[in-house]
Amino acid sequence: MPSSARRLLPPFALCMVVVLVLLPGEARVQWGEVALALLLLAGAGLGLAAAANGRERRGTTLASMFALLAAIALLRNGVGANAGFGPLIFLPVMWAALERRRTELLAVLVGIAGVYFLPMLITGPPQYPSSGWRGGTLMLVTSAAVGFAVIALVEHLRAERDRSAAILAAMSEGFALTRDGEIIQVNPALCAITGFPEADLLGARAPFPFWPTESHEANTALLRKIVGAGGGSFDIELVRADGKRFPAMISAIATDLGDGSRCFLNTVRDITELRAHEDRQRQHAEQLATITDVIREIGHCDPLDARPTICRTALALAEGAHAVSLWEIGLDGGLATTATRPETTAPYRVGLDQSDHGAHVVMATGQPLFVADARTSPHCDRRIIELLGAASVLFHPISDAQGVRGALAISWPQARTEIAEGEILLIGVLAGEAALAMQRADLLGRLDELTRTDELTGLPNRRAWDELLVHELAVAERHDKPLSVAMLDLDFFKRYNDKHGHLAGDRLLRAAAAAWQATLRATDVLARWGGEEFALLLPGCDGQGAAILINRLRGMLPDGVTFSAGVATSDGTTPPRTLIDAADQALYQAKADGRDRVVVG
Ligand code: GH3
Ligand code: MG
Ligand code: MG
Repeated sequence: MPSSARRLLPPFALCMVVVLVLLPGEARVQWGEVALALLLLAGAGLGLAAAANGRERRGTTLASMFALLAAIALLRNGVGANAGFGPLIFLPVMWAALERRRTELLAVLVGIAGVYFLPMLITGPPQYPSSGWRGGTLMLVTSAAVGFAVIALVEHLRAERDRSAAILAAMSEGFALTRDGEIIQVNPALCAITGFPEADLLGARAPFPFWPTESHEANTALLRKIVGAGGGSFDIELVRADGKRFPAMISAIATDLGDGSRCFLNTVRDITELRAHEDRQRQHAEQLATITDVIREIGHCDPLDARPTICRTALALAEGAHAVSLWEIGLDGGLATTATRPETTAPYRVGLDQSDHGAHVVMATGQPLFVADARTSPHCDRRIIELLGAASVLFHPISDAQGVRGALAISWPQARTEIAEGEILLIGVLAGEAALAMQRADLLGRLDELTRTDELTGLPNRRAWDELLVHELAVAERHDKPLSVAMLDLDFFKRYNDKHGHLAGDRLLRAAAAAWQATLRATDVLARWGGEEFALLLPGCDGQGAAILINRLRGMLPDGVTFSAGVATSDGTTPPRTLIDAADQALYQAKADGRDRVVVG
């Protein structure tokens, strides 16, 4: 209401000046009444000024209005009923109407009736002729029409303003209306986003309080560009009242508000969350790419290379890590590294007694264990930690459906206080892949062993023997050492089978293999060549030595079974096939010579 009162002040003041200017020209002026009227006008003016400053009370307003009306009545009486002061009554009418006070308006209308009709009733003609009824009635009706029309208009405008204010208040985005570079309207969201109260924002011009100081120049140039282009969207860094920076997206649209001025509707959005979301998505995409790499790397590696690949991948994956070791259960129940990065000459070991060691712990619990201070933790082996120069270590289990089959130990040279959830997740994925790769490697290893082992005797089969022969020939050649090959064939074994049965024959083959194997040196290789025939590889043994050794094998067969053998010796240069043929030839000779003997070819 102070705003409508404020709006009325200038016209009121103007009217007063006009009244004063017009007074001296009038004849028959009763100066006493005029002076009183002027006093009342001044009083009404003071009441209006108080209302303009927001200090007025309802009673004061009403008193001021009546003072105004009384002043008009006195002016009419003092200067003349037709002196033209009548239209002054629109001042209280507008006053009441602009402030939407229907009661006051009615009171003013009653007052107007009083101003016009009371003098006619009390004083009457000639000063107030009866024709004055017409003028008074018209003045009353016009005042009522104008007053109520203005109230309706003001209410309509208010409703419209309240509606836009409600819309602005409901907006989650910040809003600022700027005119000629000045902020003329803001919504609560903008105050919340920037932390500045409305009072600090209204009337602000570039550089705006929410611009970071160092960006004033750049932002001013940007603003100029936007104004030139008639709007646009842009990302910008803003600063809150508390000094905190945040990324924002501003959309500016030029508009004409109808009063001829060019305004910009600016929406301001705090995009901190959006940026964080984008960052998270980027991180997720990177993690996904890393996971894909891990799966490809470990899943497609040569099974024989699975364990070193697991360590290498883990080292690449764990940012800042400098060493990775893969721990598995050894034959003695203790733990030993089966692969390390960087490579070590001998595996690290922790005994069964070191049950606090991280690898033991995660294998028992199946849960990762992070050791921030590896140097003092009971979960770490002091010697290994010193060798590695590790400050922090993460132990992560490697589990498959059968359970925990190993543990990865990842160490960092710089102390870390914690491991991020994302890091653990990635290492978890790697550990899962590692378990599969290790399982596959072990299965393939066993399969390979199976394809190279004779089922009946457990000895290397012919295929394995062929490979070993090539290898041993190369070694013999490099060291310039002799190497003997012997072919052993049981004598009349068909007969043995016929007499004792095939199963007994099998048992005898097994017993011969076990007995001979036990007698031979670790470097000698006894293989089942096929049927009742065996092949013997004797590195560093010449023909004579081979004959002596083979004769020692005699007598180890039960039931008086004998065998014949043919020996061939090489210095490593003889091709494998030739060597075997020579041994075969010697065996043939031994058979031909009567069996149960050794022939050195
Ligand atoms: P020779 O002294 O000439 O070597 O006579 P032999 O009977 O041992 O030789 P021959 O080649 O005629 O027969 C080999 C026999 O070895 C035939 C087969 O019954 C027996 N044999 C081969 N493989 C196996 C086996 O895996 N188990 C058993 N029980 N017997 C086998
Ligand atoms: Mg044979
Ligand atoms: Mg035979």
